[in-house]
Amino acid sequence: MNDNGKNTDRLEFVIHKHDATSLHFDLRLQVDDVMASWAIPKGPTLDPKIKRLAMQTPDHEMGYNSFEGILPEGSYGAGPVMIWDNGYYFPEIEISKGVREAIENKKKGNDLMKSGIEKGEIKFKLFGKKVRGSFALIKTKGFGGKNAWLLIKHKDEFCEEQFDAKDEKLDVSVISGKSMKEIINSV
Ligand code: MN
Repeated sequence: MNDNGKNTDRLEFVIHKHDATSLHFDLRLQVDDVMASWAIPKGPTLDPKIKRLAMQTPDHEMGYNSFEGILPEGSYGAGPVMIWDNGYYFPEIEISKGVREAIENKKKGNDLMKSGIEKGEIKFKLFGKKVRGSFALIKTKGFGGKNAWLLIKHKDEFCEEQFDAKDEKLDVSVISGKSMKEIINSV
């Protein structure tokens, strides 16, 4: 869905900021009609020198993309959830060392994502409001447990050294403009 709630011919992505047992960011990438998900304790960064641990979590329903509010006590992930960023993405292939091509065809891109997740390595270009540009998500070979991947920013024009997703200035919802505190207090 785009901002108008209409289906588009692009794959969607959303990043939830989620304060459950600990604060983390959930990166969700549309594959078929579900959202493949990774919990990133320190959040995504635009700094290409930093690798972020990203724990793969169960696929989420696409309907959850528009959820912002508080998951009640006693439910899985109880705590406030913010739509920290959203937009669309193109899967990418590396055509030669450091040279990537975005796959804009939705079906082709979707198939590429499925095989990439299976293999434990995907590349994609995000078009969000806070986070843009090319990334890789690569499954670790055992380090961090079987669901552990690493999120890495590729070098491109969207890089920003020391980018910190937990920065106060970035504590604002892309749909409501609320901070995490305001989301908690608005219920
Ligand atoms: Mn979460």
